Amino acid sequence: MLRSSKLLLLAGLLAFTNTGFAQPAARKGIRTLIIDPGHGGIDPGARGSFTSEAAIALQVSKKFGDTLAKVYPEMKIIYTRTSDIVPGNSPTIDAGLKYRANLANQSGGDLFIAIHLNSAGRKAGGWYERKVVDKIPRTKTYKKGKKTYTKTYYEYVYENVYVENKAKGTETYVWAMNKNDSKINSVTKNNEYSGEIDSTSALAMPDPSDPVEKARMLIYAQNYFRKSLELASEVQEQFKDAGRVDRGVKQRNDKGIWVLQATGMPSILIEIGFISNTEEEQYMASEEGQREIVNNIFAAFKKYKEKLEKKSEEKDKEEGKKGF
Ligand SMILES: [Zn+2]
Repeated sequence: MLRSSKLLLLAGLLAFTNTGFAQPAARKGIRTLIIDPGHGGIDPGARGSFTSEAAIALQVSKKFGDTLAKVYPEMKIIYTRTSDIVPGNSPTIDAGLKYRANLANQSGGDLFIAIHLNSAGRKAGGWYERKVVDKIPRTKTYKKGKKTYTKTYYEYVYENVYVENKAKGTETYVWAMNKNDSKINSVTKNNEYSGEIDSTSALAMPDPSDPVEKARMLIYAQNYFRKSLELASEVQEQFKDAGRVDRGVKQRNDKGIWVLQATGMPSILIEIGFISNTEEEQYMASEEGQREIVNNIFAAFKKYKEKLEKKSEEKDKEEGKKGF
């Protein structure tokens, strides 16, 4: 109980922050869902051999939203963008990211799902690399004083070899802000990850030495972290069942996923595949591939939603008993 009164105090503090980070409310289920297609406009995201991350993320996001709208007509679905623009027609990528977060918070979203595509390697598809393809033993004789020596050495044969860009699979990110997580004090540290890099430069990471920021981080950790993790795990589970390579749920706290910590709700970022891998690019660009990806994310969402509703029903029963 002490904890919840502390939380209330923190939530009060938050009402005055400019991030619009909503106070955690006792809402049931998911009434409002924010779908965030990554990148857009001046920011195409990762480039494939024939398409871009921004384009495919938008197509998949819309299909996901359409599927949800049919099954849950009562649910409000809000997209951060529905065309090839920086969200809100913002002038910069950073402003676009802030727009995404503000829109989510001001709409009172219950869940935030960002759709992105991964990328790795030097070039989409593959690239040529100078490689040793053979080594031929040679001998060389030389004289030193009166003696003759023989020395063996290798002559290396180089060739330009085509290296296929093979990185593939799906992964889902959550903001790493578990209250028991030691990282809570080191959120400004960048990790070694090289995949999803939002081209942001100026956006500040939450500063744990600022009490308001710290309060916001704690609220995220206590209210949203576990739920985010639960949904992210389910998404990966569904991809795995569909035969995709499962790269797992990853926790990060760097700029690449800045938007996740800026939303006052459970939030995940799904990397639906590698655009740099030709096979996956073709899959993600195809009708069939997109349908399968959408079905996977939808199945995970459905499970998560039902679990959440069941929990809140149980809680209602508990409280009902007490009240009686
Ligand atoms: Zn991206």
